[in-house]
Amino acid sequence: MTPAAVITALGLLACAAPERPAPPRPPDLVVVSVETFRADRARLGQPGSPMPKLSAFAANAQRFEAAWSPAPWTLPSMVSLMTGLSAAEHGVTRGELSLNPKVETLAESLQSAGYETMFFGVNSLFTASRGLDQGFSTYRAWPSLNGNDLQREVERAVDARDRTRPLLLWLHYFEPHCPYEAAQPFRGLETPTWGEDAAPTLDQAQFDQLGRCFQLTDPGDVPVLPVGRYLREYDAELRGLDLLLGDLFVSLDRRGLQDAVVVVVGDHGESFWEHGDFGHGRTLFEEVLHVPLLVRWPGGRDAGAVTTPVSTSVVPGFLRAAAGLADAPTLGGPVLAGTDDEGRALRAGRLGDQKLILDAQTGVVTAFDLGADPAERAPLATPDAALLQAVRAQATTSPTHPPLALPLAPPVEAQLRALGYKP
Ligand SMILES: [Zn+2]
Repeated sequence: MTPAAVITALGLLACAAPERPAPPRPPDLVVVSVETFRADRARLGQPGSPMPKLSAFAANAQRFEAAWSPAPWTLPSMVSLMTGLSAAEHGVTRGELSLNPKVETLAESLQSAGYETMFFGVNSLFTASRGLDQGFSTYRAWPSLNGNDLQREVERAVDARDRTRPLLLWLHYFEPHCPYEAAQPFRGLETPTWGEDAAPTLDQAQFDQLGRCFQLTDPGDVPVLPVGRYLREYDAELRGLDLLLGDLFVSLDRRGLQDAVVVVVGDHGESFWEHGDFGHGRTLFEEVLHVPLLVRWPGGRDAGAVTTPVSTSVVPGFLRAAAGLADAPTLGGPVLAGTDDEGRALRAGRLGDQKLILDAQTGVVTAFDLGADPAERAPLATPDAALLQAVRAQATTSPTHPPLALPLAPPVEAQLRALGYKP
């Protein structure tokens, strides 16, 4: 190098030195929420799981093995997933209510921090303006759309994204929700299903009580009465969903999202007559509250099982922390859930293996030890005192920002009924 070249090079260095290195780019964030997704049916990582692809994903993820939905139906649960508030705190517990716009959603926090924010979801509850769209620059909702078509829509949008900005991408699959019509080749698959043998048989009157969405019939409209058939068809839905998710993970990796933080979560579960009910929304037993919750951190960080009970409303806290907007949420303490159905208010809490359900109108408390009695068959004589206090406090909690009334126009009511709810 000539002396002149050395001087030029030193000059360039001198010019470059004062510039600060750019702050690290916040991670891309992907949330995959799934309708009506029971943890005990998914059996992730267990022999015979109907979901081998999601089990493989879970092996590299933080697995919350005692995750509860904050409410046993879509609307309050999704509002909690998007805000981090419990159902009692946001108050969006009936179909004619919408989130108060003063509540800051996860998408709003991330949008303010420079994220591009996209939501693609299938459920007629998402199509009316209930505040779920707050903070999403792209918000697309369909009353019905199969998972394959949903993924093609997502891929088109991800391909067209602004790559200079981090991304929040949220997908919501409808697949395991009733009607139980699994994608081929799983429909009617004669694969025995876990728990099928122990399931009861309905009588005609019980069948007639089912909403049309839940009824299975054989050719000639012959009612299907063995509950094992319902379990088998639900599990077939999970097998179909598993293929979709496997395809999605490959597709997102190919599109440059291989280092994204990816959350997979159920919005609530489904009853198959374990406690005299079907569907969801009306009870707070484990079949409607216990859902899968997986968080795949970049590089497989923190992969492994977490047995501490958590609410899925912790998800916005995880993602705000991942984006550098907040400290990581602390786990532990009572986990709460609730539902309001036809004038009946039920509240539940879990602390360790202790669980209780409070009927807020009658004051009746039903307590269980989930460690000794996971099927909730043998109520305890005495509920845990600290847990009862927490659940009672929840029953008297009022939202800081009360929900707004959404006119319950006939189409909205018809949509709710089609989903199996009675608005
Ligand atoms: Zn749902």
